[in-house]
This record gives sequence, C-alpha cells and structure tokens, in this order.
Amino acid sequence: MRSKRNNLVVISVDALVYEDIEDRRELPLFDSLIENGTLIKSVTTIYPTLTHPVHASIIAGQPAGKTGITANTRFTPGSEDMPWYNSLSEIKCGTIFDLTKENGLKTAVCHWPVTAGEGDMIDLLIPELMDKDVKDAEGDLLKAYKNIGTSECLTGILSEALEKYGYSIAHPVYDEIQNACACEIVKRFKPDVLFTHPGLVDSERHRTGLFSPYVKEAVKRTEGWIKDLINATKEAGTYENTNFIVLSDHGHLEYERIVKLNVLLIKEGLIQTGSGYVTSWQAYAQSLDLSVCIYLKDPKDKEVRGKVRELLKKWTGEGIIGSVMTAEEAAKEYGLSGDFSFICEGAKGVCFEDGLTGDAIGKEISEVPGCKRSAHGHRPEKGPQPVLIGFGPDFEKGKVIEKGNVLDHYDLFKKLLGI
Ligand SMILES: [Zn+2]
Repeated sequence: MRSKRNNLVVISVDALVYEDIEDRRELPLFDSLIENGTLIKSVTTIYPTLTHPVHASIIAGQPAGKTGITANTRFTPGSEDMPWYNSLSEIKCGTIFDLTKENGLKTAVCHWPVTAGEGDMIDLLIPELMDKDVKDAEGDLLKAYKNIGTSECLTGILSEALEKYGYSIAHPVYDEIQNACACEIVKRFKPDVLFTHPGLVDSERHRTGLFSPYVKEAVKRTEGWIKDLINATKEAGTYENTNFIVLSDHGHLEYERIVKLNVLLIKEGLIQTGSGYVTSWQAYAQSLDLSVCIYLKDPKDKEVRGKVRELLKKWTGEGIIGSVMTAEEAAKEYGLSGDFSFICEGAKGVCFEDGLTGDAIGKEISEVPGCKRSAHGHRPEKGPQPVLIGFGPDFEKGKVIEKGNVLDHYDLFKKLLGI
C-alpha cells in the first residue's frame, strides 16, 4: 500500500462513448491521457441507462434497485412534468461521501447529480440545478443554488462565474459556469476529492443525434474543460499527487417516434380524466425515454394485470414496444426493482413521453436541419458504450482494458483514496 494518499478528481463526461475518442487526431489531450494512463474501452452501465440513476449508482456502487433512484423522475401520476430525483438523501444506501466524511477527507462536488441538499455531508458543494429549482427561486439562479444546499463559502466563486458566463442553465453556459467553479475550488481549497459532471456531449447528442458534427465539437470543447481542471491542479501545486478519472454514464440511440403510452391507457379505460386532470387510474406509464415503466394501482388485481399484459403484447406487435420484463425479471437481470409491475424497452426508434394529451404516437424531428435526435434509457448492453480513462500517479501507463462495469467505479475510488 502507498504511504501517501493522492488526491482524486472525477470528471463524468455525460454520454461520452468510446467511438468519440477512437480517432484522436484532433483530440491531443485525450490522446495523451490514454497514452499515459489506463483506458477501459467498454463499461457496462446499469439499467435504466439514465443520468441520475447511473450517477447515483456510481457514487454508491449499487444498482438502481438498491439506490432507489430507478428513474430520473419520481413516479407522480397525473403530472406531465414529474419531479426529478436530485437530493443525496433520496439515495437509499450509503455513498462514497459517507466514507470521505468518515475519513476526514475534504470533499468537493460541482454539478454531480443527486447530491443536493446535504451541505454537511459534502464540504464544498455546488449541486446540479434543475428547472424546478430555478422556477422555485423565481429565476434567481444564485438563490436557486443556495436553496438546494450550495456551500456558503462557494457563493462568491459561483457569483463570479454567473457574472462572467451568464445567468443560464442551458448548455454550454451551464458547463462553463461549472468548470470555472470546479477550477476555482481546486485552486482555493485544494480538496482531497472532487466530483464534477460536464453535460454538453449528452445535450448535443439529444439535440443532433448520435455522431453529428455538433457532438464532435462538444467532445473537443469538453477536452478543453478537462485541460483547465488539470491546469488548476498545477496552479494549486497538487498536480503531481492527483489521480484523474474521466468516466461516463451511458450511450445513446437514435429515435424518430415519440409515444405517449398514457394517452393509449386513457383510450383503453385504464386512466380516467376530468377537466384535463387524472381523476383515477388502474395502470400508468412512466417514461424512461427509450424504456417505460408500467405501474399498477393494485398490483394484485389479476384482471387489470391480465389486461395490461394483453395490451403490451398488442403494442409489441404494433412496433411500439420492443421487449417486456416483469418487475421480478428486471430485478433478477439488472438489479432494478421498484414499485412498477412491468418495464418495457421501446421498439427501435421509439422514445416515450409522460404526456396525457395530444397524439399517442408522433414523429420527432431534430430542430437542426439534416440531424436526427437521440436519447437513452435503453438496456445497457445496446449501442455505443461508456468509457473510463484513469491517469495520475496510481494508474498504469498505456494499459488498455476491454471491459469494465460501472458498479466497480466505487471500489476504484475507495482504493485510490485508501479508504
Ligand atoms: Zn447522462
């Protein structure tokens, strides 16, 4: 075992996949990090492949059934805009932050999902900001950040970044703010551990498809942010004893159709509405983008269960649904359990929405001419896969590992931190 523990910087580049960094002629920093570090080319992630569930699983080392973060949003029937899981207290099991706290490590988090509201667990915290937080603070971003647990000692850094880059939570402004704050945190506070999460690659994939020129540009821009962070450790005098991990949460798949299963469930008489509101329901769908959970009000009601099973079979035949699992099957295969009764993956090219009105099936067209759209939430073995690059004093140089698992990252953090 090492006699001296090194610092750790974890950068989660949302939706980065191996194909993005395979050709590195225009990505000199990625090239040098891989040359001088360890690369895992294909990291199996959890199901569902959604940002908040995966980030919770990364910091807990447990699948979604154990963390309780089984979707981006909390199941809220009747709401077309279900509230997001974003508080650390919503994670049902222990996380890496319990251990860093216990071991007296100075811990910083900048925009890592599902870390809000726990200023005493994380020493230096700027949580991920959600649309609802901004709305609750009537558009005052600094107030919104404070409301969700941003550390008092970071409000100065945050104000400066907002002033410099703009008062917005849209990418890439949001990422610029985040990276400026992360760099300042490194320089001023020299934390033992820092977790941060640039989201531009993911947002460009959603907007313009899997491998558009915009995605390529976003990867290059993200490389610049990683460089800034490395330089911040050099300025802080901590570079030589810092391990860096660049990882990602999930891939994407392209889609062309939007399906609102709740509109179909209304037609089938399994959801009742009045004056535009849901008055009662027997079966209700929650979108996981490329997958969907079906909840039964009374899971023991055999008649409703049978009817839903028949409908799922019919929708499979109609090319809406690709595959169906019961909750028990999902728990067995993916460690995914919750209060839902079925989890279905969409057929190829289908993305689900929570809406209760309008057309049940619609066409989705990218706002950018010549581009498609893409999303995630699909089964983890499908499509391009996330990666991990580790470099620094404790990583082997030039090592390439073909396959890894996102649930092993937690043990890697522990090992690197000597805890
Ligand atoms: Zn993501």
